[in-house]
Amino acid sequence: MKYDFNVPPCVGTEIDYIADAIRMHKISGDGEYTKKCNKWLEDKTGSTKVLLTTSCTHATEMAALLCDIKPDDEVIMPSYTFVSTADAFVLRGAKAVFVDIRPDTMNIDENLIENAITDKTKVIVPVHYAGVSCEMDKIMEIARKHGLKVVEDAAQGVMSSYKGKALGTIGDYGCYSFHETKNYSMGEGGALLIKDKADIEPAEIIREKGTNRSKFFRGQIDKYTWVEAGSSYLPSELNAAHLYAQLEKADEINNARLACWNRYYECLKPLAEEGYIELPAVPEGCVHNAHMFYIKAKDINERSEFISYMKKDNAIGVVFHYIPLHTAPAGQKYGEFRGEDKYTTKESERLVRLPMYYGLIPDNVEEICSVIAKFYKRGKR
Ligand SMILES: *Cc1c(COP(=O)(O)O)cnc(C)c1O
Repeated sequence: MKYDFNVPPCVGTEIDYIADAIRMHKISGDGEYTKKCNKWLEDKTGSTKVLLTTSCTHATEMAALLCDIKPDDEVIMPSYTFVSTADAFVLRGAKAVFVDIRPDTMNIDENLIENAITDKTKVIVPVHYAGVSCEMDKIMEIARKHGLKVVEDAAQGVMSSYKGKALGTIGDYGCYSFHETKNYSMGEGGALLIKDKADIEPAEIIREKGTNRSKFFRGQIDKYTWVEAGSSYLPSELNAAHLYAQLEKADEINNARLACWNRYYECLKPLAEEGYIELPAVPEGCVHNAHMFYIKAKDINERSEFISYMKKDNAIGVVFHYIPLHTAPAGQKYGEFRGEDKYTTKESERLVRLPMYYGLIPDNVEEICSVIAKFYKRGKR
């Protein structure tokens, strides 16, 4: 491949920090590096409390436990998302209720949520696709009106904001991912952002196998014990050390990605204006993090041709994204699409993601865009 679709971020200091964690003889969870990551994330986002976790999937599972999800509860989410959004709630016996997306952002259509609410509904899960925020004012207003919790799947939204608020800090809980496909990485990992102070202690207990060990480590009690049902959601210090190296360089990484994103937009604008492709929208009030750059082809056939042209003929890694969850076997078993699927399937079939990673530079982007232009100007159409 000349340009891979994704290259995991690496800033160079990761190895020193990991070595440091080893030298401190503290590689299990909640050591110095985990504390540094939590603090960095709290300072950066303004979140009341951040707890590093083993993945975004696990952060979402913690949120489902904190929401006290019970069998037959309903949880509203888009069908155009990663499986973890649904898994976390389905594991607790809930039903995933899928609502259509907006074609401009690929995010849940805030105007369709209220119609999907029943007396079983407990939670709304907005997914901030591509690090571009959902319409959170409207979603929070609906949630408050109906007494529902909001869990933000902000896996892709680290360093993004909505009307000045960091994604993940607007709902009751926010879930970040630090998987190696995301903007900042610890290999596998994530974080839970907590808004309400009263949720901090229950969250710490769930994360520490149902024990009050966190309190014990802070010297607040003289022995710890099993106080609730829980699991093990704390990552190793080795992973936290890797992440901390990257958080220290977060602005540099963010700016480099944004420079590429903006260059894509400029270079592809003429093709969009001529009606060949569609470009992503960033609504007013949303500051994004260049997690992804996608374009939309005319339909699934043109997209297949495009992917083959880019990958096979030009060694440029471009990939499509989610197959809507309601069409998957587990989606049919555990979920239900409520309302009309006007855009979810149609738009997901047109979308294709272009190379985007820390290390890609605007010159590379120009080269990629010239290949895209060649595809559309082949004289075939
Ligand atoms: C990556 C991703 C997840 C899962 O993150 P993990 O850290 O791998 O568990 C969940 N939701 C969305 C929208 C994602 O993009």
